[in-house]
Parts: sequence; C-alpha cells; structure tokens
Amino acid sequence: MLQQVNGHSSGSDAQGGGSLRKDLQKFLSGEAPLHQLDDLTKVNPVTLETVLRCLQARYAADTFYTNAGCTLVALNPFKPIPQLYSTALMREYHAAPQPQPCSHSESAGARATEIFWTRDSRYKKLKPHIFTVGEQTYRNVKSLIEPVNQSIIVSGESGAGKTWTSRCLMKFYAVVAASPTSWESHKIAERIEQRILNSNPVMEAFGNACTLRNNNSSRFGKFIQLQLNRAQQMTGAAVQTYLLEKTRVACQASSERNFHIFYQICKGASTDERLQWHLPEGAAFSWLPNPERTLEEDCFEVTREAMLHLGIDNPTQNNIFQVLAGLLHLGNIRFADSEDEAQPCQLMGDAKCSIRTSASLLQLPEDPLLETLQIRTIRAGRQQQVFRKPCSRAECDTRRDCLAKLVYARLFDWLVSVINSSICADPDSWTTFIGLLDVYGFESFPNNSLEQLCINYANEKLQQHFVAHYLKAQQEEYTVEGLEWSFVNYQDNQTCLDLIEGSPISICSLINEECRLNRPSSATQLQTRIERALAGNPCLGHNKLSQEPSFIVVHYAGPVQYHTAGLVEKNKDPVPPELNRLLQQSWDPLLKVLFPTDPEEQPSGQSRAPVLTVVSKFKASLEQLLQVLHSTTPHYIRCIKPNSQGQAHIFLQEQVLSQLEACGLVETIHISAAGFPIRISHQNFVERYELLRRLRARTSSGPHSPSPDERHSEGSPCTEAATLQPLLQDILHTLPALSQAAATLG
Ligand code: ADP
Ligand code: MG
Repeated sequence: MLQQVNGHSSGSDAQGGGSLRKDLQKFLSGEAPLHQLDDLTKVNPVTLETVLRCLQARYAADTFYTNAGCTLVALNPFKPIPQLYSTALMREYHAAPQPQPCSHSESAGARATEIFWTRDSRYKKLKPHIFTVGEQTYRNVKSLIEPVNQSIIVSGESGAGKTWTSRCLMKFYAVVAASPTSWESHKIAERIEQRILNSNPVMEAFGNACTLRNNNSSRFGKFIQLQLNRAQQMTGAAVQTYLLEKTRVACQASSERNFHIFYQICKGASTDERLQWHLPEGAAFSWLPNPERTLEEDCFEVTREAMLHLGIDNPTQNNIFQVLAGLLHLGNIRFADSEDEAQPCQLMGDAKCSIRTSASLLQLPEDPLLETLQIRTIRAGRQQQVFRKPCSRAECDTRRDCLAKLVYARLFDWLVSVINSSICADPDSWTTFIGLLDVYGFESFPNNSLEQLCINYANEKLQQHFVAHYLKAQQEEYTVEGLEWSFVNYQDNQTCLDLIEGSPISICSLINEECRLNRPSSATQLQTRIERALAGNPCLGHNKLSQEPSFIVVHYAGPVQYHTAGLVEKNKDPVPPELNRLLQQSWDPLLKVLFPTDPEEQPSGQSRAPVLTVVSKFKASLEQLLQVLHSTTPHYIRCIKPNSQGQAHIFLQEQVLSQLEACGLVETIHISAAGFPIRISHQNFVERYELLRRLRARTSSGPHSPSPDERHSEGSPCTEAATLQPLLQDILHTLPALSQAAATLG
C-alpha cells in the first residue's frame, strides 16, 4: 500500500493538502492510473490480473517498457517507433545523472544494491527502457572499483522481440561505448563497431527463418560478449551459438520457410550467378517452400555487404552460395521404392538431373554421391569386412536429408568462427565485457520432443540462476543494512532440474543410456523406464489420456508433455560415416575446409571418436554458459508478445497471461516486493512522509511514535534502513486512521 502512495508525489506541506487529498482519494478508490505505474511492484495487490491490467493500460498508452523489480518487461509494439530507438535518445539515457557515490561501495551487498535498486532513483525522470538496462550495465562495468562483467538475459517466446532488443542494445553500446573520435582511431572504431553490428544480418540470414510465429524467427540461441577496454570502449566481440535447428534445411513445417539465405540467393542472384549456380528464374525446389512470399528479410545485398565488412570476400561468398545451391538441388532428388530388396532404389523423374547438378555444385563425384545415398556400408567381424546393403526408399531420403543438415550445420559453425575471428579483440586489449543472451523462450506445443526438452531445460537453468542470484543479492544487502526480514516462498526449481539432469539418474541420463546401449527400444519402453526410474520425483507426471507414449515434466513455467517416439534417435543424431567420407572427397575449397580429412584416421576408417549425444553436447554448452553468467552481474529483460498476429494495437489478454505465467513474472514481482521494493535515502524518506506522521498525530489517539530524529537521538540502530523500518511500520498502522482523515478532508 505504501508503494502506491509512493507512486505519486505528495508535494510540500503548504501546497500538499490538495495533492495529498487527490492522491488519497485515488488510492482509496483504487483508481491509481495504471499506465503511469513504471514499476509493477507498485501494482497492488500483485496478482496476474492486476499485472495484466497494468501492462494492458501501458500498451494502450504506447508505453512499452515497464520495470518489474529487478527485471524489465518489454511489450512488442509491432510497429516501427524510430524515436524510441534514436541515437538522440540513446545519448539522453547515457547522459542521465551520474550515480551518487555509494557509501559501501566495496561491499558485495552495496554492489547488489547499486545493481538492482538504483534504477528508479537515478533515472526517475527517464521512463523504463532497454537503454536504462544498457546504461546501467555500462555504468556498472565502469563505475565499480573492481570492474565486474555484466550480462543481459533477454527472454520471451518466439516473436516477442528478443532479437530486436539485443540488436538495439548492440546499437546502443556501439554509440555509447564508441572509441574516441580522433580521425585515425575513429576509423578503427567505426570499423570494429560496424563489424560487430554487421554480424547481425549475416547470422540472421543463415540462422533465421519465417515461422508461423515470427517472420524472422531465430533458429539458434546466441550469446554475444561485447568486449571493453579499460576506457570502456568497445574493442571487439565474441559470439557463441546454441542448438541451430538444422533440420529446417531439409524439412519445413507447412506454411513455414527454410533459412532466409536460400530465398535471398534465389531472389537476389544476378543473371551470371544464376547460370553459375544453376538457379534459373522460377526454378522450383522442394526445400524452398513458399517462395512467392516476399519478406523484408529477403535482401541478398544486405547480407553480401555485411559479409564483405566481416572480411568474407566475394570469391568466398560465391563459394558459400554455390554450396547452398548444391543443397537445394540435392533436395530435389527423389527415390522410387525398390521391388527387390537386394537392389538399390532408383532415381525418380528429373532426379538424375538434380543429382548431377548437385554433385557439380558440391564438387563431388556424381556416382559416389548417388551410391552413398542408396547403399549403406557395414563393417563387421574381426577383419572389419565391408558389407553393402541397399537402403529402403525412406532410408535414402534420410541419408539425403542428413547430408544437407551436416553441410549446413558445419557451414553455420564455420561462419560463426569467421565472424568471431573478424570481430574478436586481442585478449590483452579488453578487460571487461557485457554479455547479451538471446535464447529461445519456454516452449510447449501439442507435440514436444528433444528440441523442446533442451530449450525448456535451458530455461529452467536460467530461471534457477535468476532466483539464486537475485535472492542472494537481496540477502547480502539486508545483512549489510542490518534488517530483519523474511522471504516469500519462491519456487525452487531444483527438483525439476534433478529430474532433467540430476545424477545418477535423470531423463537426460536415461535417454543417453538408450543411445549408449544402442538396443532396439520402443517409445513405450522408454516411457516406462523413465516413469519407473524417476517415480519419486514430484515434477514427473503422466497423461493417462494420451494416446502416444509420453511423459510430463512440471516445469516452473507449467507442465509440458514430451513424446518419447523418436527421442533416442534424435539424441543420437546419427551421421553415417560414409557421408563424412564422401564430403572429404570434395574438391570444393569451402567443403575441404568444412570436412578436412582426419590425419589420425586409419585408412580402413576404423578410428572412431566417442560420439557425443545431442543432450550431452547441449548440457556441456549450457554449463559453460552458466559459468560465464555466474561470473557476471545479470540483468533481465522479459519480452512479451501482445498478440500472435504480429499486429500493432492488439493486446490479447489470454496470450499475454500465458506468457506472464511462463516467465514466472508475478513471482518475480513478489520476490522483489517481499524485499523492500523502494529504496530511498533516509533524508528523502523523512522529508516525504513527515506529513503523514503529523497527520496521524492529529487523527489518532494512539501512542506517540517518536520521529526518526528522535530515534536517532535515542541511539537506535545506526543504519538508515534499520531506522526506517519502524517508521514504515508506523505508517502502515496509521493507514486506517488516514482513511478517516481522507473522509474528513473530502
Ligand atoms: P524473437 O527474437 O523474440 O523471436 P524478434 O525480435 O524477431 O522476436 O521480433 C519479432 C518481430 O517483432 C520483429 O521482426 C519486429 O517486426 C517486431 N518487433 C519486435 N520488437 C520490436 C520493437 N521494439 N519495435 C518495433 N517492432 C518490434
Ligand atoms: Mg529471435
């Protein structure tokens, strides 16, 4: 309640009667102007409904950013608002008053205070914005005696605005952390900042696609580390990517598209390039659905230009596009069923032409390419004898798709490494970094598989990191302030994480075990094994009505049903060794780099590195990421999508509600509010609320409460917060009397 009174300025004593009366009337009638509440901790009571109403009111008022304690909620406007992201505005946020020196600047508690709670007071004239978060992180890196790396974790469901937000923040840092403007160094600065920004269109062209939920959906997770030197100038950056959805190369859901780059080539290639890459105007490719749709992301020139800035020259670019054209032709290869199991499946229709073109673009010998798709080689026995077994039609298709996925995934990783070598600063030229994490949000579809399990697992880890870090920070602060306090019961998701990744037995370990044992195992058997082995975990559920074998994980953001069919196979992500060997035969310069011949490999191809499963690789990269995040001070931005049509001015309560639930926002606010959501100095507090104390003295016949000054003179606890706590209690007890006073005044 105090928070709402605090939401309005009470004015001075002399003029304050009128404004106080208005404030009180609004307060008592519950008419607080919701759209003016810059921080959701001020909504009273904090429930899903009130938070929703507040966000809706702000959306209607074209106010898209709202603080929620230590996080920032970002509503997607779905319309261009250039002035909201202008360089002028970036400079305004950057030029906001410098922080007051912190009296306990060397203590961890004070550091936490500075990080989380000074936003309101220092930037009170500026509205909540991603630039506030950007500036806060920048100042934290800069202002602390021992600089601490910072990270901004941007989350939200697909289409909510994560990538947009990360991009805007990168632009913000390119402006505020630019190198000095002397002519020569300016040129260098421009180059590195421009290069860093240029990594976006390239990574988006190769890693983003049009999906049902977002025309420019990122199909990979990304952590970018912006590197700063001692003078807090950006000297470079490093990108780490996670879990590219490589299946999209060969398989697109209906009404969705392949990665943008394929459309860009087909639409933007010159006549000569079309000839060179065998892409005649209007050619149909089965891996290129919905080519008639034109998106703003289809701009080939932008990608080429950005690649050039990153040091990828035209011949290398042409090589990349030639390989991609080879994949498109590969996708047109069709096999017919074979009537005789001993005979390989034959090519259908125009497939002969497709295989020839594909082989020529990938610089592979045509016959071995076809044979690799048609025939499996098995080595068996002590002598490692080679047996050749023709594949079924379905197996041929799988091998074709696998070849494309293999090439595309390697190409993507290679591009990321090229980008990194182009933008990464020398290790001794930077001292601190600001990390931006743009990862897929929590997902729950009618059919969830390994991809969703990994994504939701990552979200569980991030949520745990959030709660742990945040509570720890508060705890340290209160200890320093000498306060007595108790927390709300926040949701600890350790049980769920134990279920997913715990040791010795968890869902991950059981799926890995199936891969390791390589035994034929049905979906039902896997379900039974999981249910038996993990029966005691309350986060494991079972849908009795489900027709298909599945299990339920009760995530912090809600229960998700995972189907077990195909889970083990996806986890193995098997690549027939013949495919690798085939690609190593290519005389294409790029493929030679992507598939080098292993010098260690035995001529017979016997050497086998231990194969890591998808889950194991993901777990390892997640742990690495969390280690980095733990070493930083995190800041959180939760992006919310107001409607799924991507339309401006539409706020669909149901859809927003489910996102608020999924990101545990109300809980976050509770955690924030359970602590002391408003941090104001002792002096300001007394000045502001002295009037209330005096009012109380006039209206209440209760015992006299000593003024803060009296308390000081009585030698009560000397920390400011400890002094304020009883005064706050006093005011809260006084509220009934104040309501009487308001009635009298009215
Ligand atoms: P996500 O990365 O969360 O999947 P994006 O960042 O790609 O979502 O945003 C989806 C679309 O929403 C963008 O292509 C853009 O059209 C729109 N959008 C997102 N944020 C904003 C914003 N702040 N202002 C205007 N449009 C936005
Ligand atoms: Mg994205």
